[in-house]
Amino acid sequence: FFEMVLGTLSKVAEKKQIRLEMHVPEELYIEADEDKMKQIFINLLSNGINYTPDGGRVKLQVTMDNDDEVVFAVSDTGIGIPKKDLPRIFERFYRVDKGRSRNSGGTGLGLSIVKHLVELHHGKLSVESELGMGTTFRVILPFIQDEEM
Ligand code: ATP
Ligand code: MG
Repeated sequence: FFEMVLGTLSKVAEKKQIRLEMHVPEELYIEADEDKMKQIFINLLSNGINYTPDGGRVKLQVTMDNDDEVVFAVSDTGIGIPKKDLPRIFERFYRVDKGRSRNSGGTGLGLSIVKHLVELHHGKLSVESELGMGTTFRVILPFIQDEEM
């Protein structure tokens, strides 16, 4: 699954000479909607690529947490997000100050969609960022969906 997801982004990453890394367990099965999962990770990884200067790195790391959760961390070595903007980036159409040198052209919907899709899977979404150093988004999903998605 993740080879397929990263494959769709390899051209864009290559153009910016960004290294796309993946650390995923050999075997991992979770109950989730494949198309929605694809959209979650394409949005997060393409943000990583967009908001990271040429020559940087974007990484996906998947680890098991306890016996019932999986943690998907998408991190980059990019421009980071100012503290004051962090609480708002999951809102629809919210974008950080366009005056900063960033690859523009987005609509500000990507993360609001990610949040919605993670919630449909009864998961959690969090972000940590340091300006000029990089950003990490974490998606935590239960292995099994015991309620309707
Ligand atoms: P869209 O995804 O709809 O094309 P977008 O990327 O601007 O547009 P979101 O994905 O919702 O919208 O992200 C909202 C804002 O959060 C972005 O405009 C950007 O300012 C900031 N942001 C998101 N991801 C990162 C990241 N990895 N590093 C730095 N800033 C980020
Ligand atoms: Mg986006």
